[in-house]
Amino acid sequence: MDCIFCKIANGEIPSNKVYEDDKILAFYDLNPQAKVHVLVIPKNHISCADEINEANCNDIAHIFVKIPGIARLAGIKNGYRVITNCGEDGCQSVKHLHYHVLGGEKLSEKMA
Ligand code: AMP
Ligand code: ZN
Repeated sequence: MDCIFCKIANGEIPSNKVYEDDKILAFYDLNPQAKVHVLVIPKNHISCADEINEANCNDIAHIFVKIPGIARLAGIKNGYRVITNCGEDGCQSVKHLHYHVLGGEKLSEKMA
């Protein structure tokens, strides 16, 4: 499958890593939309939030267990926002589930 985040997860494409374990990878977004912008992905391909199910939801729970530590590792000290874009109206551009962790500054009160 030609998936850029699968290639980042398996090391074919380099990334600026924040955290990695057997299930997930966190790396800096190439085009940051806040002072700190990290992406957190499951290593197993899941295309978007619509594809989360009973069989793969442990990886998603693991992402949320790890996000506070990932935010700290990235230098976020005073709160953050977690976003996932899904599908056409959600403006998802990379079709491998990822959570944006945004922080390092006061974010907009608007979410959309
Ligand atoms: P989304 O629009 O929610 O699908 O977000 C995709 C994100 O992936 C965007 O914020 C891009 O800047 C980011 N991105 C795309 N390719 C790379 C890459 N090779 N390394 C890091 N971030 C990337
Ligand atoms: Zn993938």
